[in-house]
Amino acid sequence: MTEAADIVIAGGGPVGSALVLALRDAGLRTLLLEAQSVQSTDRRPLALSYGSRLVLERLGVWSGLAASATPIRLIHVSQRGGFGRVSMSADETGMPDLGYVVDYGRLAALLAEAAASSGASCRHGAQVESWQGGNPALVQYCQDGETKELHTALAVIADGGAVSDAGSEDYRQCAVTAHVVSERPHNNTAYERFTPQGPLALLPDAEGWALVWTTTPERALDLCAADAPDFLAQLQNEFGGRAGRFTAVSARVSHALRRRRASADAGHVVFIGNAAQTLHPVAGQGFNLGLRDAWELAEQIIHDGTDPLGSDAWLQAYRRRRSIDRGGGIGFTHGLVRLFSNEFPPLRLARGMGLALLGSVPPLKNFLARRMTFGARG
Ligand SMILES: Cc1cc2nc3c(=O)[nH]c(=O)nc-3n(C[C@H](O)[C@H](O)[C@H](O)COP(=O)(O)OP(=O)(O)OC[C@H]3O[C@@H](n4cnc5c(N)ncnc54)[C@H](O)[C@@H]3O)c2cc1C
Repeated sequence: MTEAADIVIAGGGPVGSALVLALRDAGLRTLLLEAQSVQSTDRRPLALSYGSRLVLERLGVWSGLAASATPIRLIHVSQRGGFGRVSMSADETGMPDLGYVVDYGRLAALLAEAAASSGASCRHGAQVESWQGGNPALVQYCQDGETKELHTALAVIADGGAVSDAGSEDYRQCAVTAHVVSERPHNNTAYERFTPQGPLALLPDAEGWALVWTTTPERALDLCAADAPDFLAQLQNEFGGRAGRFTAVSARVSHALRRRRASADAGHVVFIGNAAQTLHPVAGQGFNLGLRDAWELAEQIIHDGTDPLGSDAWLQAYRRRRSIDRGGGIGFTHGLVRLFSNEFPPLRLARGMGLALLGSVPPLKNFLARRMTFGARG
């Protein structure tokens, strides 16, 4: 049987659900297809920018998240074995907070619940198998063992890259995430420490810290298997004493890191969020960028009546609208990974000088903070 909807969204993660919410008053038949039928148990920490908070407020979900979100008011960046460090405070940038630490599962569940009660049709346990560009686009999915087809003016692929995983590059790094406790209070400070194996981020999280430790796949395996005292000793050695003595750690989870960018959108098919670009977590930009993808797509759907929805001209307009923000986010993130993964001594020196320069030129710091907070329009 072939059904029809104005907009079909493949993937009900945080970005797909945010799009459903942004379209709730558009007067369109929106249908969301999500493969999972149970809530995500993924507890990876996400650093939301202040700009994302403003979008989540407009979507009406921030109030449900605020109590469990830990504000970041100071960010401290350094490199292991090299000089140069920089710190950036919310006061310097004129924003109330630099960002907020939340957990992925909670954010995804909140957005999914709000999307389900927005009036849109949300089907869970509906696995998208393929799509085909055309006018209309065709989406094939499987639910309860039955394969179904949908015609739509716009198929939005927000599956995190699960189906369309062509063209990805393995960073040969994994991010180990965990909750850790130390003797010192976090005072709403986030630390990013670059090490030769990858960046290590310690983010304020409730009464303790959320850890995102990027390293080689082999070491990630060892870190996940290590007992608590051994793990804490390795963390102390890598991070140093800034947060005081580490005293406890939760179970650890390892995430393999890939970099990908979707090939061009086909007729009446568009990619957003991680399906469009999957970034290294080093600068905490993936979801923030994906949320702006969803927000701006909804803006164009609602306000751009010049070209037919999903036509080539319409898609080109969306690509143009997103190109600077996306290009900047991808280039900045990838550049950081490459720059800080190289132990060539002159490069280490240049990095130290770069950090020192950034620390001593307030307008430069402010420029960077606003770009990371609001994207290219910062
Ligand atoms: C360790 C780590 C730390 C991170 N830290 C940050 C951070 O600090 N800040 C930040 O902004 N970003 C961060 N990110 C990135 C962030 O997690 C992603 O950018 C974000 O989850 C992307 O959301 P999404 O909805 O596009 O994709 P996903 O979260 O991957 O969701 C995709 C959804 O699609 C569904 N799906 C998959 N296949 C199908 C199918 N065939 N049919 C139907 N549904 C399907 C999935 O079940 C899922 O619900 C981090 C990532 C990692 C790994």
